[in-house]
Amino acid sequence: MSKPRLLVLGTGGTIAGAAASATAAAYRPGGLSLAAMLGELAALGLDAELVGEEIARIGSQDIGFAEWQALHAACTRAMADPQIAGVIITHGTDTAEETGFLLDLTLPTAKPVVLVGAMRPADAVGADGMRNFANAVKVAGDPQAAGRGVMLVMGDAVLAAQDARKAATASIDAFRSFPRGPLARVTPARLDWFGPPHRAEQGARYAFPRSLPRVAILTAGAGMDAKPVEALLGIGAKGIVLAGMGQGNAPAVVLEALARAAAAGVPVVRATRVDEGLVDRHVEVDDDALGLVAARALGPAKARVLLMVLVASGITDAAAVQAAFDG
Ligand code: ASP
Repeated sequence: MSKPRLLVLGTGGTIAGAAASATAAAYRPGGLSLAAMLGELAALGLDAELVGEEIARIGSQDIGFAEWQALHAACTRAMADPQIAGVIITHGTDTAEETGFLLDLTLPTAKPVVLVGAMRPADAVGADGMRNFANAVKVAGDPQAAGRGVMLVMGDAVLAAQDARKAATASIDAFRSFPRGPLARVTPARLDWFGPPHRAEQGARYAFPRSLPRVAILTAGAGMDAKPVEALLGIGAKGIVLAGMGQGNAPAVVLEALARAAAAGVPVVRATRVDEGLVDRHVEVDDDALGLVAARALGPAKARVLLMVLVASGITDAAAVQAAFDG
């Protein structure tokens, strides 16, 4: 059987990071070109033919609309190209959950799209990038990987982009998956899915936005007042995600200011600053009375991505926004 042809979209990140020496702490994300990376990968004897396209060479803390638009366009072309079996995106880990979730919301599920990164630069002792990449090839080249939405491969696990979250700054198994656990375990030799594809033959859930509205994350803190909410409205925020305490709580004066924002047509989503957990409606906050939306399983970073996509699609009514977060 011929090897699957996979499109590799390079964006930079630590997986393409270059340090001054194998033991140095400092490094430059994206220091290595995609061509150089593919050259090193060729020596691994991977079971796929890799075709490269460099989108950027940046740390993912600098990623934004232009790179997202280019990634979406390249994935869309790959979906339509019968020669391409799947897509791998090399990406920094800082914002992998945001890029992954944005693409998950705006691409069909017909072919696997897999983000992969690394926690250690490519030239560091004990670098994890090559192994993660070999695992990503195993996933993107597997016909069973289609119909699962965009995925992230890190630390020998396959996570749904919708569930993935960076939970540690430096360890090589830095990602967690909530509310579902990993979709599969993977090594360069084996791939074990834990269930059948759950989104088979699904079209894109939302159109890719023409531009991204300003949606801000506001972190709640004890003793804060309403001024930060007013400041956000003052700079023209089109949506606000509260990274609230516990189940999306905030001091009463802050909730009152957020309710005024919602009444003025700026949708407000309550997420949590806690590492993990659901934020449901009407636990301690009267969402109906205040016109607020509960983020459910999405943390602040992914709640902001969904709210940007919704506002860009003209969906700002609290009930419609809540329905999207419930979905
Ligand atoms: N700051 C880096 C980035 O996100 C970190 C990493 O890739 O792990 O590009």
